[in-house]
Amino acid sequence: MPDRMQKYVSLPRAMPAKRAPEERVQDHREIQADFEPHEAAAQASRCEQCGTPYCQVYCPLHNNIPDWLKMTAEGRMEEAYELAQATNNFPEICGRICPQDRLCEAKWACTLEQAGHGTVTIGAIERHIAETAWAKGWVRPRLPVRLTGRSVGIVGAGPAGMAAAEELRAAGHEVHLYDRHARMGGLMSYGIPEFKMEQSVVARRARLLSDAGIVFHGGQELGRNLSFADLRVRHDAIVLAYGAWVARRLDLPGEDLSGVIPALDYLVSSSRALIGETPAPEIDAAGKWVVVIGGGDTAMDCMRTAVRQGAAGVTCLYRRDRANMPGSAREVGHAEEEGAEFAWQSQPEALSDVPVEVIPARAESLDRRGAVQTVRACRTRLGTPDASGRKRPEPVPGSGFEVAADLVVNALGFTVEDAGRLTDGAVSMSPQNRVAADRKTKMTAADGVFVAGDARLGPSLVVWAIREGREVAAAVDRYLAALPKAAAPGRRERPLTGAAPCA
Ligand SMILES: Cc1cc2nc3c(=O)[nH]c(=O)nc-3n(C[C@H](O)[C@H](O)[C@H](O)COP(=O)(O)OP(=O)(O)OC[C@H]3O[C@@H](n4cnc5c(N)ncnc54)[C@H](O)[C@@H]3O)c2cc1C
Ligand code: SF4
Repeated sequence: MPDRMQKYVSLPRAMPAKRAPEERVQDHREIQADFEPHEAAAQASRCEQCGTPYCQVYCPLHNNIPDWLKMTAEGRMEEAYELAQATNNFPEICGRICPQDRLCEAKWACTLEQAGHGTVTIGAIERHIAETAWAKGWVRPRLPVRLTGRSVGIVGAGPAGMAAAEELRAAGHEVHLYDRHARMGGLMSYGIPEFKMEQSVVARRARLLSDAGIVFHGGQELGRNLSFADLRVRHDAIVLAYGAWVARRLDLPGEDLSGVIPALDYLVSSSRALIGETPAPEIDAAGKWVVVIGGGDTAMDCMRTAVRQGAAGVTCLYRRDRANMPGSAREVGHAEEEGAEFAWQSQPEALSDVPVEVIPARAESLDRRGAVQTVRACRTRLGTPDASGRKRPEPVPGSGFEVAADLVVNALGFTVEDAGRLTDGAVSMSPQNRVAADRKTKMTAADGVFVAGDARLGPSLVVWAIREGREVAAAVDRYLAALPKAAAPGRRERPLTGAAPCA
């Protein structure tokens, strides 16, 4: 067979078709299509097959990218899928929502980009490989070959919990996934909007886990209707994978006015309505002037959701400039295409329930309880870089301005809920406010209690959560194998309550 690779000289980089902005804002469906088979093969053939593949190095899962690109170029799709899923539990998910421009397709990761040819479209090809596998029936539940008689309870059914569950079940353990929500998926189901990844993509994986024998318990919240003591009795090991959902405060006057909401409350309300858990969004931007505070991907998701809900106008206030935004350039571009506006180098100073035009005369009304109507802000200039390496914003004196707002979304980020409260003090937090654990084993100070995903790392990415889930599963498996035989029997005689069918 002639070599089908290194076609980058004659073949330009191309992404799959994307729906036009005016069409896509009419609904919440995914904006990017899958490649056609001939397109995927052609784009995969652009890979240079480097001796040291930096794309693989910068992929958190160290996917064997050059090899599955070559297989795709040669039409060996089943082999490509086998290889892709060997390192990634959810390749079609990462292919859709990884910020590839910061990972495998970054300019420091793909040699072609450095040479000015444009990166290989790795994410879109990974998605195509996995979608082909689903269509052909090659994706099957990973059933255990032998049962160990050990039981693991996982709290949190996001990507970290789901990946850990799949690995532990394949290793022969009984696995129970607990989540306060009705469906598996975590932020993939309730936070990340459908226009980035449709719910059916996550639901399909959830069904596969159930088919493998993993028991999902929806509506079970640790610290509320699920106790740590009960989990200890039921299971030989516990994994805490409950994510990072606590909103950082804005720390601004007027923060407690009605209409000022955390980003996740807003996105969860939209997702729950779209998947039919509620008849309509509990928080609706229709007809409202929306201001989103923050510059990460969550801010972009909120803006784009508000546009789809029919907001009168959507503005993002961000302290730094475009080049210093934490969010992915791709997502900023999508938000702009869809009509969201950016007020770069703008720092909010106060929120008020007085309309824009009367604020100067009524400054004392900041204390009045009511609904937000105005955001007062000032311009910034960028100073020296801070600890994160990004330039520090400084307010420009006398640059104050006002923006009308009847919905203000706080997208400044999240922190991890206190593990001590959830575990009756058995597990503690690190000085960085994450669940404290041994770096290598991921075991907390409580014997047999492990932690993975955002709860251990702080807010991160789905691909890192999958890696965490795989690593914690390996650590739990080692822990269980080392337990004295007598410790196992008897624990599961206690009946489980509250089991709900998987979504
Ligand atoms: C709006 C938004 C958009 C994002 N977009 C992207 C993106 O495009 N690409 C990307 O790679 N990453 C994205 N991320 C980050 C990504 O979603 C997370 O890093 C990832 O989901 C973390 O996985 P996890 O399994 O650790 O936690 P989560 O996905 O947060 O799952 C934790 C689960 O634990 C449950 N839980 C919490 N507390 C309890 C309790 N006490 N009892 C029982 N259950 C509990 C929660 O309901 C949740 O289901 C985004 C994040 C947000 C907020
Ligand atoms: S998992 Fe993410 S970073 Fe890794 S190859 Fe796939 S898209 Fe790239």
